[in-house]
Amino acid sequence: MLKRIDLGRDYKKHEQEYLAAIRRVCEQTAFSGGEFADRFDEEFAEFCQVPYASGVNNGTSALHCAMMALGIGAGDEVIVPANTYIATAWGVTYTGAVPVFVDCTPDTWEIDPDRIEEKITGRTKAIIGVHLYGQPFAFNRVKEIADKYNLYVVEDCAQAHGAKYEGRLVGGLGELGCFSFYPGKNLYAFGEGGSVTCRKKEYFDAVTTFKNQGNKVRYYHDVVGYNYRLEGIQGAVLSVSLKYLPQWTERRKTIGRRYLEEITNPRITMQAHPENTEPVFHLFEIKTPDPDHFIAYMAKRGIECNRHYPVPCHLQKAYADLGYQEGDCPNAEDLARHCVTLPLFPEMTDEEAGMVIEACNAYQEME
Ligand SMILES: *Cc1c(COP(=O)(O)O)cnc(C)c1O
Repeated sequence: MLKRIDLGRDYKKHEQEYLAAIRRVCEQTAFSGGEFADRFDEEFAEFCQVPYASGVNNGTSALHCAMMALGIGAGDEVIVPANTYIATAWGVTYTGAVPVFVDCTPDTWEIDPDRIEEKITGRTKAIIGVHLYGQPFAFNRVKEIADKYNLYVVEDCAQAHGAKYEGRLVGGLGELGCFSFYPGKNLYAFGEGGSVTCRKKEYFDAVTTFKNQGNKVRYYHDVVGYNYRLEGIQGAVLSVSLKYLPQWTERRKTIGRRYLEEITNPRITMQAHPENTEPVFHLFEIKTPDPDHFIAYMAKRGIECNRHYPVPCHLQKAYADLGYQEGDCPNAEDLARHCVTLPLFPEMTDEEAGMVIEACNAYQEME
């Protein structure tokens, strides 16, 4: 069975290097924060071409910290796309602010700039754009609207490490960029991890204080803080992985472009990738009329597929009290009903990619 994603192949290939990095952390007992976490922060800031990166314990915390650094809290609203992983909205909710969901476009499947203005009220403070599936959202259009209403733009980069928008890396476009290093993300820790990137020192200092129990000087707590620090072992592992990220991204692009060119079955619709962007193909999503039927068909051919995400954020039970109805974000709902994720990971062979393409092209609904 070809797995949707097989992390074991990377581990086997670089096992000695990963274990040596972990051993160094153990020898120095630099387990929470510390030298290895700090070194990774520097390397990741350099990778993203921003002055600051502050490592945290996961991507959800990164989003929470970004909201807090902007002073967002109870009484505020933040615009969030309906088509994203739910954690994009959690960071808003944790502060006491309310996420306001906006539909995606029918072709890029990213936040629809034409639907943002109608959702802005006197309470709106920020827009979180998500570079979903590794595809940068329409940043300039979103930024234009944000500037008109004096709002912040925050990037959720959890699926888009190294993606580019008009030649600029994600994570340095908005006020703050939020990354996840969850296993399976384009850059991943051996456990949980995340990072907040920014250009302003005041944001970096705020994030660093919040993640570190609200202190700048140890045992003197200026604000209510959180324990969101990056672990030393994760920092050390991420420093190893970061070296390989450019070559992993090249492989993802090669396979992603092949799918786009060679899958020609009219029963399968793929995401549009505007010319001013360089996507990094985190998840390769397709739309097909009957996802369960398609997944069962692929499994019979030895190919594992799954679904991201079967319920859009505005219709999740957790947000039932916000009062959204089916039909409020029709494009996101259509995608949720029809999406399937194809296997795509850097260690996949050309033959395996060919097998996926062949199976997709041979797919008939009534089989
Ligand atoms: C993974 C992910 C997150 C959350 O990251 P965690 O590290 O799992 O907390 C947030 N937003 C998006 C779009 C994601 O894909």
